[in-house]
Amino acid sequence: MELLTELAALESPLTTLPPAVALVLAMWLMMVGSSVGSFLNVVIARVPKGESVVHPRSRCPQCHTMIAWYDNIPLLSWLLLRAKCRQCGTSISARYPFVELVVGLIAVAAVAKFGVSFRALEVFAASTVLVAAAFIDLDTWTIPYFVVVSLVVIAGLGTALEGWMDPAVWRFEMFVEGEVPNLASRVLGGAVGFLGLWAFAVLSTTYFRKTGRLQPDEEAMGLGDALLLGGMGAVVGLAALPLVLFAGSLQGAVVGIIMRATGAEHPEGTPVEDDPEDWIPPKGSVQFGPFLALAGIEVAFFGRLWLEWLAPYFRV
Ligand SMILES: [Zn+2]
Repeated sequence: MELLTELAALESPLTTLPPAVALVLAMWLMMVGSSVGSFLNVVIARVPKGESVVHPRSRCPQCHTMIAWYDNIPLLSWLLLRAKCRQCGTSISARYPFVELVVGLIAVAAVAKFGVSFRALEVFAASTVLVAAAFIDLDTWTIPYFVVVSLVVIAGLGTALEGWMDPAVWRFEMFVEGEVPNLASRVLGGAVGFLGLWAFAVLSTTYFRKTGRLQPDEEAMGLGDALLLGGMGAVVGLAALPLVLFAGSLQGAVVGIIMRATGAEHPEGTPVEDDPEDWIPPKGSVQFGPFLALAGIEVAFFGRLWLEWLAPYFRV
């Protein structure tokens, strides 16, 4: 326990620890993180189809051979197999090792940034949910409910554990707050994030239907994005929420403009097989969810800079 408190007091153990120890810790975090990423690949592939994420074990989608444990090691197996199925030689998408690498790096970054702390654990857990949400949205144009439920549960556990370490979490300070958002800021962040974007979705849908730019049964924006922003509000707090929306919109707009300028056609996403509405996304449109998720991770890590800039204007 004493060691834990000591480690928690370090600002960034990865840079303050002896290099050899830091390297071992970073490698261990990379291993744990990429294994979580490997599980996320299963979540991304199966949850939209309503399949179990634990059973059955992974098979090659082409030849249906069960994948042996030694061919299922995060990052390494994909490299050793040279991106091909051992049995049938079908190529394995680079997305699998990409997700594993990203989640591994997030694990290292969380401890480098927040030390060995509950906040590091919370930001890592929330980021993994956001990575899953981003890829599921890319594939299916929907964000499942488990995303917002997970984010709220993670934020709740985070508040309880962080409040146990630091009572400041229970104080009511809306704009001036530390690295860890306080309870009131989280509750309001969740509510404002969801209700704000939901209201915007309803208003813009009504407007576009009236002006004929949408059919009577089309939506300008789904409920999923609003739930996603609400979940993120609970993780980063109210004061950092505008930055999530701003960074998400900005990055989405930049990518959208580049895609239009270069004539890149967005892959139309694979419609979920049992989707009753059989909805096909309009040409040239991009999902907002992946950019919101990306912004959520960025703000969870670097939102403090924005809060420091904001603080003098709201300090009373
Ligand atoms: Zn195969």
